[in-house]
Amino acid sequence: MATLEVVLGDITGEDVDAIVTAANESLLGGGGVDGAVHRAAGPRLAEAGGAIAPCGPGDAKVTPAFDLDPPVKHVIHTVGPVWDGGAYGEAEILASCYRRCLAVADEIGARSVAFPAIATGVYGFPAKQAARIAVRTVRETPTKVERVRFVAFDEETYELLSAELA
Ligand code: ADP
Repeated sequence: MATLEVVLGDITGEDVDAIVTAANESLLGGGGVDGAVHRAAGPRLAEAGGAIAPCGPGDAKVTPAFDLDPPVKHVIHTVGPVWDGGAYGEAEILASCYRRCLAVADEIGARSVAFPAIATGVYGFPAKQAARIAVRTVRETPTKVERVRFVAFDEETYELLSAELA
């Protein structure tokens, strides 16, 4: 099982093999964390994303990391659920995002992966439930990834993820 960590910060500065972005189905770039990742990786990221799109909710696809600083070699694009009250499979789709990202990480041989708090921004997934799903799913998923780092962008998310890890 992977070692799990939580840090507060900007995911584009993480020193891992692969960073995950919370994308939309077009993989052309968006706001929030996806905007930051696309700015850091440069315009080739949208070209590469567009070429392998669409990516459905709960799925994940990989591209090179382009202009992101080493050691980051890959960007794993995953599409979270748009929160609609919780009765539309949102929790299962979110868990699937984490599982599929780890499966993709295994395929590309990534040993360290950084995740943002998928779906908890514009997509509206409640932060506490999302933190529980993130930690539980990563713990329960067999993977060759050795280090998983959850990157919180705000204090509340950091506290929620830390509490789940404890
Ligand atoms: P979604 O559309 O899946 O909800 P968002 O990007 O709107 O995605 O938000 C997902 C999470 O990513 C939120 O917790 C947001 O605060 C966080 N976030 C935004 N920018 C960054 C960043 N540069 N690094 C890490 N997390 C970020």
